[in-house]
Amino acid sequence: MIIDLRSDTLTQPCGAMRQAMANAEVGDDVYGEDSSVNRLESELAERAGHEAGLFFPSGTQSNLVALLTHCQRGDEYIVGQNAHTYKYEGGGAAVLGSIQPQPIEHDADGTIPLSKIEAAVKANDFHFAKSKLLALENTIGGKIIAQSYIAEAKALAQKHSLLLHLDGARAFNAAVAQGLELADITRQFDSVSLCLSKGLGAPVGSVLVSTKPVIDEARRWRKMVGGGMRQAGVLAAAGLYAINNNVARLADDHARAKRLADGLLGIDGLSVVGGKAHTNMVYLSSTQSVSSRFLADCSRQGLLFSGQPLSRLVVHSGVDDSMIENAIDIIQNFFE
Ligand SMILES: *Cc1c(COP(=O)(O)O)cnc(C)c1O
Repeated sequence: MIIDLRSDTLTQPCGAMRQAMANAEVGDDVYGEDSSVNRLESELAERAGHEAGLFFPSGTQSNLVALLTHCQRGDEYIVGQNAHTYKYEGGGAAVLGSIQPQPIEHDADGTIPLSKIEAAVKANDFHFAKSKLLALENTIGGKIIAQSYIAEAKALAQKHSLLLHLDGARAFNAAVAQGLELADITRQFDSVSLCLSKGLGAPVGSVLVSTKPVIDEARRWRKMVGGGMRQAGVLAAAGLYAINNNVARLADDHARAKRLADGLLGIDGLSVVGGKAHTNMVYLSSTQSVSSRFLADCSRQGLLFSGQPLSRLVVHSGVDDSMIENAIDIIQNFFE
């Protein structure tokens, strides 16, 4: 049996989700005539406390289009050094939008220190790019960004007339883990990108939510980057199924990640980073010399995860309790 903890993008659509996709009412979404897409966009926007939504084939494109919409050529966005938008999206905002990133090192809790943000905001001087937007990510590396930090970041953004974007690929994880509604953690932002294809288990798709004028403009940019899809309702139906059936169960992933982290505490030569799980993720560190053998040995035994010397183990709907116990055994045996 394979225990695949490489990513929560590995989930397979369940039978009921596939049924919903097969039965989806569809139309040409570039004409605005796909009722399933329209429903997904409006349901998710409402749930996030925003006016309108726009469906994208990927979170990468959704983040890119948000930046293209908010920022002009020569503008700058402030972003965490490890943020997906900056680090894992091919530099799209710079390459396609001539938008300069201003990356900043994170604190250990995943936040970007407010003092460093403030120091990075540039004066209105022709030598400088125009600081236009602050991009946050929640969860980041599985870590929840505290509500108090979001409020402070919002105040800082307002003080400096910065727009505020959230890469909320895993915002539902952050909401569920805190016992909050999605809107409690997303309505503070000018725009939010939400992934359907991570823990929520849809095969494809993200939704960008914002005001109606921003979404109208984003629709133009989406068309330009090739994201206008036709009978996309087949995919939106999977997203609708996900947001209506798969949100509460994220708590199961978090509980299993916690069990995994707890089961791995106190092993000689291995440390659980932070001493605990972060929502659905567990990070393990071992010495450089051990970690490559660790990864290879576990994978030979059917336990897959990513990274060395820092390993990332991600729990998702394809992982049950017995797989967690097996994973703990495999890892314990390796270190013994
Ligand atoms: C996965 C992910 C994205 C991008 O989503 P894709 O659909 O894979 O392009 C963006 N941000 C974060 C934090 C992610 O984890």
